[in-house]
Amino acid sequence: MSQQGIGTKCVQAGYTPGNGEPRQIPIIQSTTFKYDTSEDMGKLFDLEASGYFYTRLQNPTNDHVAAKIAAMEGGTAAMLTSSGQAANFFALFNICEAGSHIVASSSIYGGTFNLIEVTMKKMGIDVTFVSPTASDEELDAAFQDNTRAMFGETIANPALTVLDIERFANAAHRHGVPLIVDNTFPTPVNCRPIEWGADIVTHSTTKYMDGHGAAVGGVIVDSGKFDWMAHADKYPGLTTPDESYHGIVYAEKFGNEGAFITKATAQLMRDLGCIQSPQNAFLLNLGLESLHVRMPRHVENGLAVARFLQTREEVAKVNYPGLETDPYYELAQKYMPNGGCGVVSFELKGGREAAESFMKKLKLAAIETHVADARTCCLNPATSTHRQMTDEQLLEAGIPAGLVRMSCGLEDKEDLIADIANALG
Ligand SMILES: *Cc1c(COP(=O)(O)O)cnc(C)c1O
Repeated sequence: MSQQGIGTKCVQAGYTPGNGEPRQIPIIQSTTFKYDTSEDMGKLFDLEASGYFYTRLQNPTNDHVAAKIAAMEGGTAAMLTSSGQAANFFALFNICEAGSHIVASSSIYGGTFNLIEVTMKKMGIDVTFVSPTASDEELDAAFQDNTRAMFGETIANPALTVLDIERFANAAHRHGVPLIVDNTFPTPVNCRPIEWGADIVTHSTTKYMDGHGAAVGGVIVDSGKFDWMAHADKYPGLTTPDESYHGIVYAEKFGNEGAFITKATAQLMRDLGCIQSPQNAFLLNLGLESLHVRMPRHVENGLAVARFLQTREEVAKVNYPGLETDPYYELAQKYMPNGGCGVVSFELKGGREAAESFMKKLKLAAIETHVADARTCCLNPATSTHRQMTDEQLLEAGIPAGLVRMSCGLEDKEDLIADIANALG
């Protein structure tokens, strides 16, 4: 299987119907599953047999789609979650607890920043943020004895910085902890972080994977490469008996390939819920079947729009790692030679007012908080997601008042450029 190309995996991985079975992944719209004897069911509860008993923990539709994404990322196991937020929380909380510490890139999605900086702190989990351009010495200095995970985003939303995955992975491994990478923007079609040393990969499947703005969801993929037993003192949850499961030691029973996802299913899904609905998993799979066809078009449109914006005098600055002038161009070439994504951000010289009037005049691009679906959309953080901040605070946060984030969809690039030219002029 692993020799197959990414396109074949997008279409076929994760589900092979038997003779006379449905060609498409069936939606198993059932909360519960029937057994002939209590002994049969008892084996499931003891994790002695694999099977389904209640959709809050596992559902066959979800598992087929998760297996497809695991194959696409080159991982050994995966689970779907109700959202990208749930995926990142579960990925971290599966190996962190009160008293733990995380090293995270400062250039990450606002929701994830808040999760780590505010909500997980309330749980007693501390964080040190590092610049995505931090030197190896600066990275090393961020680690503590209680550090349990390192976190970053391949292409950060919305800053569009590119993570030096290999360097971050090496730093994490020097300190005996796994690197977790949120790979939402490039998707495994354009970048597979596990090939560069990442241990766990997460996604908001809400974005390009679904790709049609239809279903909120997330996924966690385990590379199966991190040796939990070699760092047993740091990860007792994986390497010592789980009394809530009759003393199972996840890393012993399920190996490096399966321990992380089994523990996240058995403990976090059981106790916190956050499962993706099988209906949404079905929609997600429809998106995955064309992901390898759609991503190159998003990249083509993003690059064309970025290049056009560069020629306009109303525009102070364009951020797009596919532009030769972008500070992240070299890293983008290394990790994403076929391009990253369709999201471009740019600063209008006229600030907030210019951004507002520009966006009002757009006809194809809609104003939305969403990114990464088939229809082009845009957002001015200063007047929407960050509207409580003053111009000074915005500048401090690296978000100029005139910044517009544009997610280039799948339309004809000539039409997108004409729409932008009309709105600028
Ligand atoms: C949107 C997004 C998230 C959060 O995902 P939801 O599905 O909205 O919960 C996390 N990370 C990145 C990079 C995102 O773009």
